[in-house]
Amino acid sequence: MIRIPRGTKDVLPTESYKWQQIEKIFREVSNLFGFQEIRTPTFESTELFLRGVGETTDIVSKEMYTFLDKGDRSITLKPEGTAGVARSFVENGLASSALPLKMYYITPVFRYEAPQAGRLREHHQFGVELFGSESPYADLEVILLAREIFKRFDISSVFLKINNIGCPSCRKKYNEILTEYLKKNTDKLCQTCNDRLYKNPLRILDCKIDSCEIVKADAPKIIDHLCPDCLKHHDFLIQLLDASNVEYVIDPYLVRGLDYYTGTVFEFVSSVIGSQGTVCGGGRYNNLITEVGGVNTPAVGFGMGIERLILLLEANGYKFVDDKKPIVYIATYNQSYYVYALQLVTLLRKEGVAVEIDVVGRSFKAQLKYANKKGFKFVLVVGENEVASNKFSLKNFETGEEFLLDKKDLAIFIKNQRI
Ligand code: ATP
Ligand code: MG
Repeated sequence: MIRIPRGTKDVLPTESYKWQQIEKIFREVSNLFGFQEIRTPTFESTELFLRGVGETTDIVSKEMYTFLDKGDRSITLKPEGTAGVARSFVENGLASSALPLKMYYITPVFRYEAPQAGRLREHHQFGVELFGSESPYADLEVILLAREIFKRFDISSVFLKINNIGCPSCRKKYNEILTEYLKKNTDKLCQTCNDRLYKNPLRILDCKIDSCEIVKADAPKIIDHLCPDCLKHHDFLIQLLDASNVEYVIDPYLVRGLDYYTGTVFEFVSSVIGSQGTVCGGGRYNNLITEVGGVNTPAVGFGMGIERLILLLEANGYKFVDDKKPIVYIATYNQSYYVYALQLVTLLRKEGVAVEIDVVGRSFKAQLKYANKKGFKFVLVVGENEVASNKFSLKNFETGEEFLLDKKDLAIFIKNQRI
């Protein structure tokens, strides 16, 4: 038997309707906020991620699915959603459209990670990007959008963590102060963090290893070292969150795993889905567009992990309803009524009623057995009497009740059964 690659998952028909409902909510909420969908390729030139995401990040240095194609081009499967959108923004000259430009995407994401609950090698993200505003109003807008998604699902067990990691100039100074502090604690830092010390000290604050966390607890806070502009931005955003009744905690050590972040960073975290609790991560990336060759365009956005959102929904006991599955099975008494039954099926489908009919050539008895096993709510039999009278009996499998209906009343009756 050929097995599924490690760290990937099938979404079976018994689960896919949940995905469809989740995606429907993403689309609805995005549209309410004026975000439109963008679809970019599943793979891009490797260079895009080297420049966009950053060579010292875990994603680029360890986790990318990179290969040479048959034309010897270095290609990488998307390890995140934003860089591709930024590339498209530049390549399609979207900077000259009416700004801000607000876009959303739903995409598979590939990272070579150690698979565990909530951590896959192929996962999926819903994300939004707002290009062309450096105002805290834009930060607020994307935070409100993410929060609205959680509200739609009745999730109250997530909390918003927020921080500001400064612009390149104040971060440079902070990095020096942080490095000085960390240098005194190298014996307590893990090997990876020792390697990061001079390349990317900020990332040490994101290490989940206990001894590194202890070092972090006393580390200088970037918020105390922000330049006046960054501090003003941060304070204004906090005021806006307060005014909008958004609950949050300021986490002075929150950093994100991608180099492109500047200024505001945030996460929505849940404590009910184990250690992979970050369901949504985002922030501002004012330099990404220039990094990938465009004109200076400030941007803010987030990525939400769909598999983690599903874990969270399940932990919350969220009830998905499969309202697309047919509830009526049309059984034919014998084959001579099949063509007539098929006409009925076609008529009902035309009226928007989902129904199934035998496509195997089964006996009447076998059709009923199948319908029962599959869990149809009703069975409608087509036989001699029905064809002669144009009246049909619809039998409820669960209660045994029968309804005798005119052909013209069938569609309405079945539609009402869903409610
Ligand atoms: P983590 O710290 O958990 O590794 P991250 O900072 O790498 O997350 P992002 O790159 O910000 O995550 O991705 C946005 C969201 O996508 C995360 O908040 C998470 O919900 C989800 N996500 C990230 N990596 C994975 C993965 N390997 N499997 C499943 N979901 C993931
Ligand atoms: Mg990660």
